[in-house]
Amino acid sequence: MLHTPHAPTPRPRARSRRRLRAAALLASAVSVCLVAASAPPAPLGVGDRLFPQLGNPGYDVTAYDLAFTYSGDNSKPLKAVTTIDARTTADLDRINLDFAHGTVDSVEVDGEPAGFAGAGEDLVVTPEDELEAGERMRITVRHSSDPVYPEDRQGGWVRTADGLAMANQADVAHLVFPCNDHPSDKARFTFRITAPDGLTAVANGLPTGVVRSGGSTTWTYRTAHPMATELAQVSIGRSTVLHRAGPHGLPVRDVVPTEHRAALEPWLAKTPGQIAWMEEKAGPYPFETYGLLMADATTGFELETQTLSLFERELFTEPAYPKWYVESLMVHELAHQWFGNSVSPATWSDLWLNEGHATWYEALYAEETADKPLAARMKAAYGASDRWRTAGGPPAAPKPPKNGSKIGIFRSNVYDGAALVLYALRQEIGRTAFARVERAWAARNQDGTGTTAGFVRLASEISGRDLDGFFRAWLYGEKTPPMPGHPDWKQNPAEKARGE
Ligand SMILES: [Zn+2]
Repeated sequence: MLHTPHAPTPRPRARSRRRLRAAALLASAVSVCLVAASAPPAPLGVGDRLFPQLGNPGYDVTAYDLAFTYSGDNSKPLKAVTTIDARTTADLDRINLDFAHGTVDSVEVDGEPAGFAGAGEDLVVTPEDELEAGERMRITVRHSSDPVYPEDRQGGWVRTADGLAMANQADVAHLVFPCNDHPSDKARFTFRITAPDGLTAVANGLPTGVVRSGGSTTWTYRTAHPMATELAQVSIGRSTVLHRAGPHGLPVRDVVPTEHRAALEPWLAKTPGQIAWMEEKAGPYPFETYGLLMADATTGFELETQTLSLFERELFTEPAYPKWYVESLMVHELAHQWFGNSVSPATWSDLWLNEGHATWYEALYAEETADKPLAARMKAAYGASDRWRTAGGPPAAPKPPKNGSKIGIFRSNVYDGAALVLYALRQEIGRTAFARVERAWAARNQDGTGTTAGFVRLASEISGRDLDGFFRAWLYGEKTPPMPGHPDWKQNPAEKARGE
């Protein structure tokens, strides 16, 4: 994700989704059909330090099949069928899914009706027979998916001028569909989107079929690589889909509001060159396609949804944004395809690995193509870094989201504050070793998850040095260590912290 406030902003922009918890209210929206159970259903989580209730123990999802039927009115709930293929990793008499906004009509486990009940932000499913560890299971949930959210909790659907888009990061995919809503459990996705004729639906991955019947069309897309729930994307609108070739024949596919197609084309034409630039830095592009979804909506952020990054259309049509700035944001979301998507965070405390790298390549692209020196940006970040650490925690131990905060965990400490850690690493081990670390990180962890400890180990291995102490100070220290090679860099108490 990238908030847009460090733009040389021409006018104020709303910055972020709201993330207030309204557990009780949301839970009440899940209809309850409790069958005989020995104890009250309880919400579970995988123990994420920042989001303790996200994800669920006892199973590993291998595939989601999401079917949405859209009426043409983005203030009305969509009809939905979510099918989850999973493998149990423990004996289960109940299966907890994350789902907290919508009505559930029925649940089946392996084709047999199952009981279900809402508990906190979980949908607790009770199958007829207990499941043993190591079994395959298929859970089918018929439900609604409601794009209208309470004032205090924005969800994954984004209502656009002409339909819908999706922005689930970090913790709101389960306000759209039942899932194991944590990036440590990635799975393949199939999307089947039925919409009235005249609208176009696009989702992550590549299309596998279009079926027209009786005034509506069903569009099917499938991902070739595993994906975290937070990176799912479904776009429905009066859109034009544009195709061009990227490096090595990579299919580049953009989705734009038809009426703005001509104005957006000069920006879209830049993507193949940006992919080639990123490949020089980080290695081969990790997915089967890439492109931009330019949504007619004011979200206040851009989001790296896998293979199809979400952007606000006005970022490109508002002439006050400098060209170099817009291009650097395009590279930020592109860089996430390697850092954050192909290699997703094992926990949300590893978010600095996503945003630090995306900010790093955003800034490096501006240096190499627009004469905006990286060192100047890093020196400014250094000046603010202690304040960012005080406000948001050190980069690899961020503070939990505050109730009422519009920023959540997406604070300066994990953007420029974490890019600063990468700059310090490059200063410490040199450009050649740093470049090898970056490529090896993306290659060795492709389609998997990455941890902070794993990054420290890799950098130590490649540099041939024990970097534990270096990283402990830079990633976990309350104060910013001295910058290698720049003993004159100092904290600047006047720099404001973002997001507080
Ligand atoms: Zn980002």
